[in-house]
Amino acid sequence: MKTREKGKIPARTSLLGFGCMRFPVNEDGKINRPETMKMLDYAYEHGVNYIDTAYPYHNYESEEVVGQWVATKPRDSFYLVTKSPTWMCKDIADFDRILEEQLTKLQTSYVDFYLLHALSRERWEHIKEMNLLPHLKSVLDSGKVRRIGFSFHDDYEVFEEILNAYDWDFCQIQFNYMDTEIQAGIRGYELAKSRNIPMTIMEPVKGGMLANVPDEIQAEFRRVHPDWSDASWALRWVGGHDNVQTVLSGMSTMEQVIDNVKTFSEIEPLNAEEQATIEQARQLFQARIQVPCTGCRYCMPCPFGLDIPKNFRLLNTAHVYNVQAAQKEGYDAMDVAAKASHCQKCGACKTKCPQHIDIPAEMEKVVREFEK
Ligand code: SF4
Ligand code: SF4
Repeated sequence: MKTREKGKIPARTSLLGFGCMRFPVNEDGKINRPETMKMLDYAYEHGVNYIDTAYPYHNYESEEVVGQWVATKPRDSFYLVTKSPTWMCKDIADFDRILEEQLTKLQTSYVDFYLLHALSRERWEHIKEMNLLPHLKSVLDSGKVRRIGFSFHDDYEVFEEILNAYDWDFCQIQFNYMDTEIQAGIRGYELAKSRNIPMTIMEPVKGGMLANVPDEIQAEFRRVHPDWSDASWALRWVGGHDNVQTVLSGMSTMEQVIDNVKTFSEIEPLNAEEQATIEQARQLFQARIQVPCTGCRYCMPCPFGLDIPKNFRLLNTAHVYNVQAAQKEGYDAMDVAAKASHCQKCGACKTKCPQHIDIPAEMEKVVREFEK
């Protein structure tokens, strides 16, 4: 297993981290504990030492299951990671109370990496209102937490503000070869690198969408490396960034654990030909876009209640990543008034689109995709 040593408080972590949000589950939705223990053991025995859970994962069950596993191993032989659900805290006393609860569930007296979970503009404002940042020093001094960071889901500008507001030990972002221009993206990566703040990466295979790519892209991948899985291309691209401390994979099956362990045992930065293949894959993905909507929302609001960009996003994602069934589920769950079929063809949106998309005409494509 490849490892990296980074940070002000150095930690030599495995480049593959075990994300504990997609454990195998039983029919009742509860975690399949025997199978999960086998998967964690296999990963651990093959050098994975970064175990990443969070308070709400698996409907609040993940930390307890991870704690069951923690109790079977020497505590100093791995790094334990969890996250504070700050949106559930009305004040600092709540923050401290939840941390105590987490330590109990995890059967430990400390966590190695503690994150303020899934920060966005709204959550960041709440953290500031609680005046949480000055409290973090005493949390570190207590020894219950060894490093403080945050995970992030919002635009780059918010990321920059948060990164500059505190002396973070690390941070965690969504990053993969198709998501370099959204959220923190490549600019966020470069900013953290310039500040010597190591990064943990989530969604390296884009929630599984890069693990089973469309045929024409897979053919290119196989031409260069017949034995590399689609997921391993995505993982190698992320792992090639030197400010990355750990790449998280939320593994659900033993097969995935074995494949990921193999990938991260032999991983090397992509060479020029492999980088060119990733660039070609990006272009082939782009060519599958049905409507060139950027999600800018200049066309909104629609006087009849349509969510115009969401309709186009679902259509595009269905085609780009060959995930029609999942996107249809998303469409079916929308309010009737927000759906493409509710378009009254009034034309109020047409002149507002900087991409000159004939919105009412393109809504027909969405209806054909998801309602016919
Ligand atoms: S044409 Fe359709 S999408 Fe555009 S504003 Fe009118 S109802 Fe809304
Ligand atoms: S204005 Fe055009 S590009 Fe922007 S969200 Fe609306 S349809 Fe998409």
